[in-house]
Amino acid sequence: AKRTGGNRACFFNEIERDSRSHERIRLEAELKRALLADEITIAFQPKIDCATLRVVGAEVLARWDHPERGLLAPGCFIDVAEESDLITRLGDRVLELACRQGRVWLDHGQRLPLAVNVSIRQLEKPGFTARVLDILEITGFPAELLQLEVTETVAMGDPERISEAAKPLLEAGITFAIDDFGTGYSSLAHLQRLPFNTFKIDRSFISGLADDHHSRSIVQTILAMAKSLNYEVVAEGVETEEQHAFLAENGCTTAQGFLFARPMPAEHFEAWSKAFLMD
Ligand code: C2E
Ligand code: CA
Ligand code: CA
Ligand code: CA
Repeated sequence: AKRTGGNRACFFNEIERDSRSHERIRLEAELKRALLADEITIAFQPKIDCATLRVVGAEVLARWDHPERGLLAPGCFIDVAEESDLITRLGDRVLELACRQGRVWLDHGQRLPLAVNVSIRQLEKPGFTARVLDILEITGFPAELLQLEVTETVAMGDPERISEAAKPLLEAGITFAIDDFGTGYSSLAHLQRLPFNTFKIDRSFISGLADDHHSRSIVQTILAMAKSLNYEVVAEGVETEEQHAFLAENGCTTAQGFLFARPMPAEHFEAWSKAFLMD
């Protein structure tokens, strides 16, 4: 499985070669230890309303605060977590941290919707639905402020099973986004059977906007389709003013990317969003 976790040096980049290699087993053990030692943390990246430039939410991204190697991006460890049972514990941890922080912000008067990434492996595991609802109850974070981002490969899973798992969550008020939209191989007929209300346009199309007319057409098509299906759209990986202008002109509602802010810890997010809202 390919997954890019930013440009950060990854100390486990040898592991792709042999899935049962010594390195992989060592990483699995280290990750297990990290979960017990509370080394898994989260970063928040703001989502911005394309028209008003207001902060309308944040995506929650897992980080591993490694004692020797510093802050590690998920590209270094999500794959290994997914191939073991650790993804369940890691996912629960991320969700709990997110909801707890979201609750703190709510208590401070900031009603911030949060989007948390969920892997298909996690979603398909029995007990997922109950644990999500548990975490909401324990933390007191409102379900209607929670969105779950699932990559488009979700459509390769069993739609019956996924709809079944999602049903109580939808009823509670949670929404679902299709992450990295446009990069999977799912048919629209298949996607239509799944309970999404948001597309997240993959970064690869956004980075092509400046000089590739195919990317522009694809983005315009996704925006038009979303409009007629009454889906929301988030453009990810927005890095330049030009990209933002194109998206705003073509009716994209929400954008996310380094142009506005990089993912940051909760304390920074608070300060950043106050400053950002000033102007
Ligand atoms: P993603 O869900 O597509 O998340 C967006 C990634 O793009 C993040 O990388 C973010 O830092 C990066 N990004 C945001 N804006 C820009 C930009 O303007 N330019 C560029 N070049 N990059 C940008 P990150 O944090 O390394 O996460 C990588 C992937 O790891 C995520 O991709 C997601 O699939 C996965 N991931 C992260 N956290 C979790 C988690 O808690 N659970 C699961 N299952 N997967 C996670
Ligand atoms: Ca995501
Ligand atoms: Ca994405
Ligand atoms: Ca991605």
